[in-house]
Amino acid sequence: MNKISEIPEQTPIAEKTVVEMPADPWRCEECGSLRVSCQVWVDSNSYEVQSMAEDKDDLWCDDCAEHTRQIRESELMSDTVEPWWKDGTTEEDREIITGLNPENFSSKDDCKAFRNACGMWWNGKTNGEKIRMWRQAIAPEEE
Ligand SMILES: [Zn+2]
Repeated sequence: MNKISEIPEQTPIAEKTVVEMPADPWRCEECGSLRVSCQVWVDSNSYEVQSMAEDKDDLWCDDCAEHTRQIRESELMSDTVEPWWKDGTTEEDREIITGLNPENFSSKDDCKAFRNACGMWWNGKTNGEKIRMWRQAIAPEEE
């Protein structure tokens, strides 16, 4: 009897390609989603990428379910999300977003303490969290 055949066949561990997210990933310009795709030309033999999509028509966002432009996360932050927080939100917006109550802060200097607290709260958030808040504010999900 062949001993080897008694060894139970090992279940191969499912090969899972763990693709690490790049430091400055592409995001949908409209909604900030990371679930974006682009069409590429690949060499039929080597599978090397020959050229990336340039046209909006070749770009796709799963969350928008539309062809949308894509930009680097750093650009989305500096061009859109940070300016939104700085200029696009009112004190009431910030009160709702941060959950901080301006009444708990001194009203001196046009509520400087409250504004500072909001700024610190915001700076403690990751890009992903900031983008989620921005997205929620610009396009509230319908209930
Ligand atoms: Zn999108």
